[in-house]
Amino acid sequence: MSSPPTFAARLIAWQEAHGRHDLPWQQTRDPYRIWLSEIMLQQTQVATVIPYYLRFLERFPDIAALAAATQAEVLEYWAGLGYYARGRNLHAAAQLIASEHGGRFPATAEQIAELPGIGRSTAAAIAGFAFGARGAILDGNVKRVLTRVFGIEGFPGRPAVERELWALAESLLPAEKIEIYTQGIMDLGATLCTRSRPNCGECPMRGLCVAEQEGRQAELPTAKPARQIPEKQTTVCVFFDGKRVLLERRPPSGIWGGMLALPEGLPEQLAPSLGVCLGSTRALAELRHTFTHFRLTLTPVLCRVAAPAACNEANMEWVALTRIDDAALPTPIRKILASLARAGGD
Ligand code: SF4
Repeated sequence: MSSPPTFAARLIAWQEAHGRHDLPWQQTRDPYRIWLSEIMLQQTQVATVIPYYLRFLERFPDIAALAAATQAEVLEYWAGLGYYARGRNLHAAAQLIASEHGGRFPATAEQIAELPGIGRSTAAAIAGFAFGARGAILDGNVKRVLTRVFGIEGFPGRPAVERELWALAESLLPAEKIEIYTQGIMDLGATLCTRSRPNCGECPMRGLCVAEQEGRQAELPTAKPARQIPEKQTTVCVFFDGKRVLLERRPPSGIWGGMLALPEGLPEQLAPSLGVCLGSTRALAELRHTFTHFRLTLTPVLCRVAAPAACNEANMEWVALTRIDDAALPTPIRKILASLARAGGD
């Protein structure tokens, strides 16, 4: 790992020469304008934000104007930006500043972070840009830059990895030019060190960056681990009398509620209770199906029924193989029966 000053020095020099300097919220120390830009930029690209930002400021030029507006009016000016909780929180925070801070925007990152809709990273950015306060930011772009440059493994959303990244972000802060440094790390993540196509050839971290040196840009940051879902297994019986299959109407709620499905259980156990006379049995190909909360492996067993039988159970019905296209069947059951129909019932 390189020494921290090298990272900061490169970033500051790059921002001064190549970073963004003319965004509408960069030529001000007004915390209200900086706050508004930070919130709008949270889930939205710069180019989309600019017209909304300018229109919003025209209608709500300061905290007092925003606090005096109704929520409906504020949301009208937010419409199109999405993530409306941002607009609602902005309005609520303006009212809080008006009522509890005498209309003056709080000046420390700690106080700013107490306002609705403002997290630790955004509070540090506002305090840095508006008041020159020295504090680390750690949004998605910054996490990407740091994990790549310093080869930090592990999904950044995991608390242990996030703690490591906060500690690293704080250790990297320069003694001076904090606004340029903060803007630089934002710009680097947004313009060069992008998620899918980092432009390492033009990057000031070239030669220092672990991902670039090891060709691991695609692996860092580590992707969110796939959710582990439980595996379940069940045997279903295809009782078949040569033309028809025996299907069970599922209870109205739960998996496949109200649909027709194959009865679950082993042939020898089910046959007597269903009143069918079991002939030969043969296992069919297994089938896997993924539900929201689990994955199910179905093992179908083809059960020849010696003689056409009336079923003992009210929720069971015989359905002709030629009619399965019209029946309310869940997809995996339809697949099993379709393959049986294609095989001509053999
Ligand atoms: S060298 Fe490439 S991967 Fe490393 S920080 Fe720069 S753009 Fe990102």
